[in-house]
Amino acid sequence: MGNSVINSLPDYIMKKLIAGNWKMNGGINDAKTLIANIINTLSTDDSQIQTRSDILICPPFLHIPAVRHSLHSNPHIALGAQDCSIYEDGAHTGDISAAMLKDSGCSHVIIGHSERRQNNSETDDLIARKARLALDKDLMPIICVGETAQERESGEAENIVTRQIRACVPELGTFEEITIAYEPVWAIGTGKIPTPDDVTTMHSLIRRLLKEKTARPERVRILYGGSLKPDNAKILLALPNVDGGLIGGASLKAKDFLAIAAAA
Ligand code: PEP
Repeated sequence: MGNSVINSLPDYIMKKLIAGNWKMNGGINDAKTLIANIINTLSTDDSQIQTRSDILICPPFLHIPAVRHSLHSNPHIALGAQDCSIYEDGAHTGDISAAMLKDSGCSHVIIGHSERRQNNSETDDLIARKARLALDKDLMPIICVGETAQERESGEAENIVTRQIRACVPELGTFEEITIAYEPVWAIGTGKIPTPDDVTTMHSLIRRLLKEKTARPERVRILYGGSLKPDNAKILLALPNVDGGLIGGASLKAKDFLAIAAAA
């Protein structure tokens, strides 16, 4: 599935993107059951979730083919991966290239998630290289940024996100598009969320900074991520410059994931 199902509206209307990051959870049968539940719920849904928002699922690499197979019965859900190699191809044992992801039906790839920054020592420079490679292979990179608890407490949150956007987002050609996910690290998987004012401040800062990278900053979707749940989705997804959500824990339950999409 290409990017055509995503952002197929005119420039001035951008549907919200609701993206599920399944992380390293479940076996192949869990993945099949979860995607079947999502597809079934959508097919009986009368709130028109699919026409009002774009839906993206990012399973673990190994489950991508099975999820792709299930999605043949639903062309409205896009498929993405959670990471890609910094190399194009060749002798890189264990790596998965951007081209392989494209070949496997992915249209998106999450880049620079805080878990990869923390657990796999990914730097801004490496993230920028992956994002460029994804763009070159016609994948939409979802570039993650966000401050730690310590950085927020010391008043550094905006400086950190500014540094990350400047360093991780490649210069974009006229028709190149990316997605940004603002994910405060302290909000991921903790049940804590920033205040609506803090989200608004950060998203409008990101929008301003994007002018340094693209002539069309309004075309970049800026997702919020971090403990997004059915009960806070309505408030967070309605904030200015919040163009959707990147959802971890709640994306593992079809009901919760689609309740968030419905709130959008
Ligand atoms: C994430 O890891 O990207 C995320 C947003 O996780 P959670 O929704 O579980 O906080």
